Amino acid sequence: MSDDRPDANDAVCMTPPRLVIEIITLFPEIFTSFLQASLLGKALASGIIAVEMTNPRDFATGRHRQVDDSPYGGGPGMVLRPNPVAAAIDDVENRRGRAHRLLLSPSGRLFDQSCAADLAGRGRIMLICGRYEGMDERIGQLYADESVSIGDYVLAGGEVAAAVIIEATARLVPGVLGCGESVVEESFSASRLEFPQWTRPSIYRGLGVPEVLLSGNHAEVARWRRREALRRTLSRRPDLIDRCPLTEEERAILAELDGTS
Ligand code: SAH
Repeated sequence: MSDDRPDANDAVCMTPPRLVIEIITLFPEIFTSFLQASLLGKALASGIIAVEMTNPRDFATGRHRQVDDSPYGGGPGMVLRPNPVAAAIDDVENRRGRAHRLLLSPSGRLFDQSCAADLAGRGRIMLICGRYEGMDERIGQLYADESVSIGDYVLAGGEVAAAVIIEATARLVPGVLGCGESVVEESFSASRLEFPQWTRPSIYRGLGVPEVLLSGNHAEVARWRRREALRRTLSRRPDLIDRCPLTEEERAILAELDGTS
């Protein structure tokens, strides 16, 4: 255990982790520094979250322990064989129990904040990372509870996608962030972008800070922030507004914005 373990989390050490993340990956070294740094590093050190990595190569048979092979029907590249991946998943679950299994794939459902919130409450999740030209289709059929994509682009492997999912999910697990409120207020929590923020100095390269934020009037500040969040969402991501209709207060703010802009 490291010495920088936060005092507030000491009690948690005695209890089981709130989230166990199983990663099935051919390249566990990709995660090493990512899992040690910052909030995630602290959450792991204090035992709020646990991460286990399992390499399908350790379950490959044959003289060369080959995990990939050429695709049936021809074409470029190599496809991950089902056997070592399945054996890795079975071994992990036999030892530590069933997890909610996610297959990382560009053809999966798009990962978003509500996915992260869902995963944060599941207790035990498994991220199955593909490589090369992808995974034999039967792993998806036999093992995936869901297939997840982090965006409409193709990565070289599922590891970076898994890291994105881990970071977005872990910070929603109670106790991982210092202050619970920052999760509630930020972008996407209510299908709105977050309001803009400033810190010291109050003037930087000639640019100041909105007067209201220096006023000390908390009610005014809160009102201003709700309005700015809405203004920003309307101009940058109107699709979010369509997804989650306006509240009465937001409708009023909108009318006000129309009058002032
Ligand atoms: N030939 C495949 C891409 C394979 S990329 C195709 O066109 O669909 C190799 C692996 O990287 C995939 O198996 C998947 O695990 C991962 N990957 C690539 N892009 C991803 C994305 N946008 N989201 C999640 N995982 C992705």
